[in-house]
Amino acid sequence: MFERSTRIARVAGIPIRVHFTLWLLLPVIAINLSRSMGLSSLGWGLLAAFGVFTSVALHELGHSLVAVAFGCRVRDITLLPIGGVAQLERMPTRPRHELLVAVAGPLVSIALSLLFRTAARPLAHVGAVRLALVLQSLSIINLVLALFNLLPSFPMDGGRIFRAWLTPRLGRLRATRIATRIGQTMAILFGLLGIWSVDLFLIVIAIFIFRAASAEYRMVRIREIFANAPPLPFGRPPPGIATDEVFVSPPPYEHGPARSTPLRPVSRDPFEDLFGSR
Ligand code: ZN
Repeated sequence: MFERSTRIARVAGIPIRVHFTLWLLLPVIAINLSRSMGLSSLGWGLLAAFGVFTSVALHELGHSLVAVAFGCRVRDITLLPIGGVAQLERMPTRPRHELLVAVAGPLVSIALSLLFRTAARPLAHVGAVRLALVLQSLSIINLVLALFNLLPSFPMDGGRIFRAWLTPRLGRLRATRIATRIGQTMAILFGLLGIWSVDLFLIVIAIFIFRAASAEYRMVRIREIFANAPPLPFGRPPPGIATDEVFVSPPPYEHGPARSTPLRPVSRDPFEDLFGSR
């Protein structure tokens, strides 16, 4: 799906790739990050960028490893300037499994947020103020990454959770249609917000989400047609029809960490609003 990407690592058999556009934009991202942290050094910006994309990769690994536990195959994880994308083959269709796969990414990000925050405190006390600032920023970025991805904007995580909740009630196709409509409406809102705030990253994320939602709805429709049709000689959708599901996780580095924002502890389960207590 993402050509011209280079493999930088392999974790639990899953290749992790970096798209060439991320290599190209890395200096811009690093400068943005260093400015938002109030550290006018490219070195600190690059360190923060490394932290952001490692965090995004771990978020995607969270999805991927839970998916693998349910018998999926993960083709790869690609890091792009607009975030991470995990490409899964044979996504579990049981709503409960789907829900757990979708929840895993934000849970990893929340855990990372707490970890960075815990690590930042002692560093500030021993005088490593800049490093503490980077870690504090990464803590906030991971928290925003979790919360932003939990918006019900299909095919982002919140949209997948919403579809998994809707599927037993309406069936997979109708649930996907509703989730897609909401996802596309939110993508349009992101796009307008991006235009209004002159935020190119947000505009690209909006276009990406809009197109990914359409593509996935088409795929679910084709699968339903094949599932309801009499057995065909080839038994599966003809080649050329995408059968992958993608997890899209845009990072929030553009709206960088506010220097003075105190981190509030996550005092409640963010999923409780959607599903009630588990
Ligand atoms: Zn995610």
